[in-house]
Amino acid sequence: MEIYMGPHTKGEPGLLCMPLVKHFPKNYGERRPSWRTVNCPSCGAECYETDQLRTVLEDEPKLKAVCTLCALKLGGRA
Ligand SMILES: [Zn+2]
Repeated sequence: MEIYMGPHTKGEPGLLCMPLVKHFPKNYGERRPSWRTVNCPSCGAECYETDQLRTVLEDEPKLKAVCTLCALKLGGRA
């Protein structure tokens, strides 16, 4: 498996990692009211969508958010 990780230039495509719910203690999202539980668009796993992620996606429409495992499987490229 080959994975690309590098600095991001604004306007380029890329993947954003959403943390998987299963990697956090139970009900962790309740401590972060701005986080939303969403499903990864690639595999359907439950992830957290953070307010920071929403802000970045609004500003960078070529980026795609997927769960951390899908980002690794896709090799870091959208
Ligand atoms: Zn996924």
